[in-house]
Amino acid sequence: MLMNSRIKLNRSVLSILLVFILGTGAAYSQVDVRHYRLNIFLSDTTDEIRGSADIEVRHLQASDSVVFDLTRRDHLGKGMFVSSVVTNKTKEPLRFSQTADKLIVYSSSKRGTSVQYTITYSGVPSDGLIISVNQFGQRTIFADNWPNRAHYWFPCIDHPSDKATVDFIVRAPSHYRIIANGIRKEERAAGNNETITRYEENTPIPTKVMVIGAAPFLVRNTGKVKGIPVSSWLFEGEKNVTAYDTAPFILTFFIRKIGPFSYKKLANVQSKTRFGGMENAGAIFYFEESPAYPGVESLVAHEIAHQWFGDAATEKDWSHVWLSEGFATYLSNVYLEDKYGPDSLRRLMTQQRNKVLKFEKKRFTPIIDHVQSDYMQILNANSYEKAAWVLHMLRREMGDAAFWKATRKYYKKYRNKNADTDDLLRIFEQVAGKDLDTFFNQWLYRAGNPKLTLNWRYRADSKNLILRVTQEQPELYQLPFEFSIPGEPGLRSVLLKDRVTTVEVPVASVPASVIPDPNVNLMAEIKEDPQR
Ligand SMILES: [Zn+2]
Repeated sequence: MLMNSRIKLNRSVLSILLVFILGTGAAYSQVDVRHYRLNIFLSDTTDEIRGSADIEVRHLQASDSVVFDLTRRDHLGKGMFVSSVVTNKTKEPLRFSQTADKLIVYSSSKRGTSVQYTITYSGVPSDGLIISVNQFGQRTIFADNWPNRAHYWFPCIDHPSDKATVDFIVRAPSHYRIIANGIRKEERAAGNNETITRYEENTPIPTKVMVIGAAPFLVRNTGKVKGIPVSSWLFEGEKNVTAYDTAPFILTFFIRKIGPFSYKKLANVQSKTRFGGMENAGAIFYFEESPAYPGVESLVAHEIAHQWFGDAATEKDWSHVWLSEGFATYLSNVYLEDKYGPDSLRRLMTQQRNKVLKFEKKRFTPIIDHVQSDYMQILNANSYEKAAWVLHMLRREMGDAAFWKATRKYYKKYRNKNADTDDLLRIFEQVAGKDLDTFFNQWLYRAGNPKLTLNWRYRADSKNLILRVTQEQPELYQLPFEFSIPGEPGLRSVLLKDRVTTVEVPVASVPASVIPDPNVNLMAEIKEDPQR
């Protein structure tokens, strides 16, 4: 997703809501959900939703109970009240209990058995499913699940490591049009001026991107790419109807660059997401004002890139979110580089580097941050811009051909599965044919960035430029440092690994200056200091 700087989040409320204990993917649950079939009833007369969830699980170990994530109805009347739980194995209703954010179903199961639980529930969602009014005064309903807010409106294993297929069967007043993941299989009148719409998503996806949206949409077909229909869903009354029309071109570009698209359609939806955009699989939700937003093309590219990285190849846990946000940020840059030329990439990388260096002064943390348990806080310049920089430097380190080969290989191997940073490292090392440990350690696991001081002089007797580069930060980096000298041909490169590196370069005349990193290939704060 992209953070929306114009939407001010209430930090204190968020930290109360979103402080969870970090768990490892493997230990998060004793069951593996294979399929959700979610029946949701929406109404205009109340914000209460009624739901019936058929959840097919495989028990990973023998157990006397199964635990789902689900927010319980609180003293303000918000949250979900469960009225019954049954399975396909027994006729009798099962015993269950609810805690603030768990549904515990008492039922013994052997390891390896598959069971379908049917949970009937209702309530006013306190989060996750946003029921509100849009700028045109229309009532709208949008899921907005990142990072783990799906369990505010349906029972699930709300963790990115448990991917499943999903069907949504939504019954709603007929003036709404319903969007969801997957392909629309059915839309029929149900009496009482209501319509039932059924979508099927046959590719396993994480709960963070399982969504429905209901609004009076105007739907435009904007193209078909390799059999995948691409559409725009805009609010009735929206004037900028062509805002998402770059989507088919972007989809074509990423299919060519990375590999097959994993979903059967791509809808671009104007919504009420709290984010700038949310990469819901096959049904991207953009912020309400996005059609008039000047950066909409880069936003659309970012969210479409997530369909490969984040949705299809999903991080095992939130601490590896850079695998999702770093790729989305960098691939959006690469799409713009392809369309507008290499200068646009240099401009973007410069802006993003400034953002990273500024962020470092505010919060000194590494990209992979196991300490942070408030997941909204990991949506920061490290996970986005610095991670994009890591990929940019990796591309320069490996060369274009090897970098894209490794990216495609990583996607192919982890498509519709989960991966962590080590999984990516192994593939990139294989393709590069060299050890990338130092590179990954210094850029991903270490807080801060290199601080370089330059100092140079001209030696008249030998006609040499003497350049001295000092690494000022406490821990040393290994990095290629590029520079150019105006009036002299070519680009020079020197490997920095010591505290001070000195190079002598023969020059034709007295140089007027030295230009560090002219092609914008290094994440570092660089200063010139003639006094050193
Ligand atoms: Zn993103």
